[in-house]
Amino acid sequence: MTAATPMMAQYLEIKAQHPDALLFYRMGDFYEMFFDDAVAAAEALDIALTKRGKHGGDDIPMCGVPVHSAESYLLTLIRKGFRVAVCEQMERPEEAKKRGAKSVVKREVIRLVTPGTLTEDSLLEARRHNYLAAYAEAQGQGALAWADISTGALHVMALARVRLGPELARLAPAEVLLSEALEPDCAGIVTESGAAMTPLARSVFDSTGAEKRLTRLFGVETLDGFGAFSRPELAAMGGLVDYLELTQKGRLPLLRPPMREAASGVMQIDAATRRNLELTRSLQGGRAGSLLAAIDRTVTAGGARLLEARIGAPSLSLETIHARQAAVAALVEDTELAADLRDLLRRVPDLDRALSRLSLDRGGPRDLAAVRDAMEQADALARRCAGLDLPGLLTDALGALTGHEALRDLLADALIAEPPLLARDGGFVAEGFDAELDETRELRDEGRGVIAGLQARYAEETGISSLKIKHNNVLGYFIETTATHAERMMAPPLSETFIHRQTTANQLRFTTVELSELETRILNAGARALELEKAIFARLRAAILDEAGPLGQLAAALAEIDLAAALADLARGADWARPHVDASRAFEVTGGRHPVVEAALRAEGASFVANDCTLSAESDAAAITLLTGPNMAGKSTWLRQNALIALLAQIGAFVPAEAARIGLVSQLFSRVGASDDLARGRSTFMVEMVETAAILNQADDRALVILDEIGRGTATYDGLSIAWAVMEQLHEVNRCRALFATHYHELTALASRLDGVRNATVAVKEWQGEVIFLHEVRPGAADRSYGVQVAQLAGLPASVVARAREVLEALEAGERDTGARPKALIDDLPLFAAAPPPEQTAPGAPSQVEERLAALHPDELTPREALELLYELKALA
Ligand code: ADP
Repeated sequence: MTAATPMMAQYLEIKAQHPDALLFYRMGDFYEMFFDDAVAAAEALDIALTKRGKHGGDDIPMCGVPVHSAESYLLTLIRKGFRVAVCEQMERPEEAKKRGAKSVVKREVIRLVTPGTLTEDSLLEARRHNYLAAYAEAQGQGALAWADISTGALHVMALARVRLGPELARLAPAEVLLSEALEPDCAGIVTESGAAMTPLARSVFDSTGAEKRLTRLFGVETLDGFGAFSRPELAAMGGLVDYLELTQKGRLPLLRPPMREAASGVMQIDAATRRNLELTRSLQGGRAGSLLAAIDRTVTAGGARLLEARIGAPSLSLETIHARQAAVAALVEDTELAADLRDLLRRVPDLDRALSRLSLDRGGPRDLAAVRDAMEQADALARRCAGLDLPGLLTDALGALTGHEALRDLLADALIAEPPLLARDGGFVAEGFDAELDETRELRDEGRGVIAGLQARYAEETGISSLKIKHNNVLGYFIETTATHAERMMAPPLSETFIHRQTTANQLRFTTVELSELETRILNAGARALELEKAIFARLRAAILDEAGPLGQLAAALAEIDLAAALADLARGADWARPHVDASRAFEVTGGRHPVVEAALRAEGASFVANDCTLSAESDAAAITLLTGPNMAGKSTWLRQNALIALLAQIGAFVPAEAARIGLVSQLFSRVGASDDLARGRSTFMVEMVETAAILNQADDRALVILDEIGRGTATYDGLSIAWAVMEQLHEVNRCRALFATHYHELTALASRLDGVRNATVAVKEWQGEVIFLHEVRPGAADRSYGVQVAQLAGLPASVVARAREVLEALEAGERDTGARPKALIDDLPLFAAAPPPEQTAPGAPSQVEERLAALHPDELTPREALELLYELKALA
């Protein structure tokens, strides 16, 4: 066994401190990984695994990524669930050498990259928040804190453990911190939300230590100025800050003072409902096809993030809703103003993220310019609105836009129009800003002119007109002639001035005392200019961070104006109406539409049929509409559009309808029967029942409940009975407003037994044995389900459709006349009459289709299984 080399010893020591992370170990222009890290990273990144030296007699596996393209590799690793410790060289190799020939360059981990602590634009989606959340409990109560370190927003709320799942669904954090003590109970909830889970020691969540950490962070004596925080709230925020200190290695991000959110102030929407209604993600998983994608007309990244947050948390405060509506309405009316504001906003950079990078000292000249540009656009916005009489929300926002003249002027004077990304190479400070810098730069640039003069002079002195002065990284400046002049150049008198440095195949290279002196001067001036620029960068950064608070408010104000203008643009362009929102239990929609389906239809050149919905509840009674109609008639669409209209009304937007009156909805529930959720390892029917149970246990009289085909995940009679009982419970106990779509016609009988239940149906026309969908919702019950006709539309063979009609008629007649069980009736049916394909079956023998049909028991099939069976039959036919 050989001892580890000094470098390997250093590597192993640092790695031991970060056992859970991949260690990016900086070596020159590469980050190298060794041992298991290398194996895992090579596979995840699909890069070559090599080896380097030996450790304990074995080869050391190694792989590496170039520093200049490290960001994209980081992104892949984070997406694949890794965390990465970035270990840099803290001194130059020469400095290490001075300590001794065998000394290793000092290295330190300067940052731990985790899903919740990203700040680089290239690693983030501009239009989404990237939250890091922490859940803590103390004294039997819970709290959730969350921060977006790329924008500095910090929030906290009291939260019982049972509400953790729904809140995580709302916020969709990238990473959740938990105390080890809570891990056994809460880990499942966290992973289900899709976030990465990071368990931390209990001590990190100690509420007393947390208070100290927070007062230090915000530079205050006491936190009382921000609000009175409970022990669990302090613990959650403290854990979060501690983790940030750990991952950012002491350089804390610019966090804004905590904002307390009350769970009671927003509409509650659980994870299943968010998924179902496709609020911010479609069922396919992407943003496309979601409500958010369909209505997002914001033009700034901050505005887009605000819209997503609002969709996640519609308000329950009439005052807030009305204030937001008024802002949107003002901009709907003044189209010219709205268009001007949007033009100005388009040029607003992502101020939040620039500020955050600057505070973490990861910013560059472009971040300084972003602050400058944001302030300039803010000024222009304020000027455009000067003297206008605008609603309170806009006036408040405009107030936050101005008053930063000193900083704005400083940045405007200091920076060139379009500075480079990195401060490293300088060249971002404008001429005329700093006299010393101008002078040094002149010297540096002049030097280049002097070199040109020198070349001319040497050419004349030597009589070699092709003589050139060139520059490379090895020799610096040198004089070059072709080899044909060797004899003259190497002999006196020229050899007295020209000192030979190098001979290449065709060239000779020389230097002179004069040239090397000049070179030193140029180099010095260049280095000095760079030094000056770096100092100016630091000064500008400090000036910005001094104003971080007001600049944060400015960013928030810009986002607020952008959102109001975007919603106004949407309302005008898509012909939406301002809903009347009040404290009643009304639900009155005239000419409502589904924004996403409508947009999809329009793209195909089809039009959407608008539908009313009346679901107003008397004092403390329930209001339930039971919707029947064939598959594909538009039941789900109608259910969902009404849920979305309620949600849009309460974020303060206009709604896709001719008119609407909505009494505040406190909770929104949406469930679809038997959605395929096998990925989560429960049977679909079980999922359906668990989710239905959640509604029946939680919905209060202000809830809006959308149930689509509940009960269809099990056998007919089971399903019908469950749907029946659920309706009764909603009506008698929950007393909420509900829309219930079903294909069980038997349920329509409930309308005559329960006061608050009404029947509605989606109209279809039958024409020459085919169904035509009218997509019109009308009062009354569907007379039949048209399943056979729909099957025909789906392209089932004519023989199967004809046979299905026969079976259906027999069943219906049997039920009418004798009330007999379907099984008995089926036994009496004449045999299936489709002609068997001759090459498959011997004459007289039953075909595969016949055999399959004979063996089946329609009673025991769910509609879904029936559909699958039809596919199977079709394949056999
Ligand atoms: P169901 O739930 O009754 O099976 P869906 O709501 O899924 O039906 O609607 C089926 C299809 O019908 C939709 O994809 C859409 O293309 C169309 N559709 C639904 N509602 C309307 C409408 N109001 N106007 C026009 N087309 C509609």
